[in-house]
Amino acid sequence: MQVYLDNAATTKPCAEAVQAAVDAMTVNFGNPSSLHRAGLDAQLVMDSARRTIAASLGVEAGCITFTSGATESNNLALRGACAAYGKKRRKIVASAVEHASVDETLSALEAQGFEVCRVSPREDGRFYPEDFVNACDGNTVLLTMMAVNNETGYILPAKEVFTAVKRKFPDIITHCDCVQAFMKLPIKATSLGADLISLSAHKIHGVKGVGAIYIRKGVRLVPIVTGGKQEKGIRSGTESVPLIAAFGAAVEKLGKTIPKRREYTAELKAYLLEKLADVEGVTVNSPEDGSPYIVNISAAGKRSEIMLHFLESKGVYVSSGSACSKGQQSGVPAQFGITGKRADSALRISMTADTTREELDYFVQCLAEGISNVRG
Ligand code: PLP
Repeated sequence: MQVYLDNAATTKPCAEAVQAAVDAMTVNFGNPSSLHRAGLDAQLVMDSARRTIAASLGVEAGCITFTSGATESNNLALRGACAAYGKKRRKIVASAVEHASVDETLSALEAQGFEVCRVSPREDGRFYPEDFVNACDGNTVLLTMMAVNNETGYILPAKEVFTAVKRKFPDIITHCDCVQAFMKLPIKATSLGADLISLSAHKIHGVKGVGAIYIRKGVRLVPIVTGGKQEKGIRSGTESVPLIAAFGAAVEKLGKTIPKRREYTAELKAYLLEKLADVEGVTVNSPEDGSPYIVNISAAGKRSEIMLHFLESKGVYVSSGSACSKGQQSGVPAQFGITGKRADSALRISMTADTTREELDYFVQCLAEGISNVRG
């Protein structure tokens, strides 16, 4: 039996996405910048995907720029906004639990002379809007905060934070990394209060290597990739029409079932937690009201990598911490009070609407076996 429970790392592309990519490679294979019919056909495919993604965020199609993925979207948001607005205002405020693609970019901006203030959760593991308002001042150019933490599933109060900060400092540019929330929770750009939103296709049954950034009308970003001025000059380079078409197809499919899938995965999460309660030594690290798609646990002090490979030997795929960190321990669990042996033995189980109770039963059975048999 093979049980894939690493969907926060990547998802299996859905049939609709695969078909859309194949069509764009075999039928509409033109370069969307070309002035002839083949180019126009590719352009139309891309326009359609752009409209679908824009509609899912409740915005105009012109506000969506395609990128190579959320890592690039996050880089463009942070570097582009700081280059455009950061001549005089030199401070950036961020949550202390951001993905490496944000956090490393913040460090690079720090090296360029920006002051970065990383706000931590309080002792209860939660963020409070007033902590962000207090961290911001007249010198602040940018506020960045993810919607859902990729390691624990904690849902950050991004909307509340953006609203409170904008009320006092309307000029601050707000950016939200929505990778783990998009198509899972209802995300609308205007009600979220974000000027910039990063998205990735491969977390939502699209294909790897494509993402998007929402840029609110009137917000200026200095491009980080220059060249042929595709994507209105914001992101040069021939667009990957097959990947974009697949992204659009995945959003078209998933956009219709966000509440239904959320309800189903919430039932799955409750079921999993109930089963885990019977396994000795398991601690649940995810908050009860976190994303139903992600459950972070610690397995009786057994080192994550050892347990991960034991589970792999049984055909069960999970992640230790964040998949992007490739075995490198991230500082995020500690921010949530997960330290020492609990951090060293943390595993992330991430589900989709295709996950079944039988798969979870098998995972729990293998985990229990691992806890009693695995050393270390
Ligand atoms: N942001 C978050 C929260 C993520 O979980 C990830 C991927 O793990 C990324 C950004 C990076 O996305 P991509 O793989 O599209 O570059």
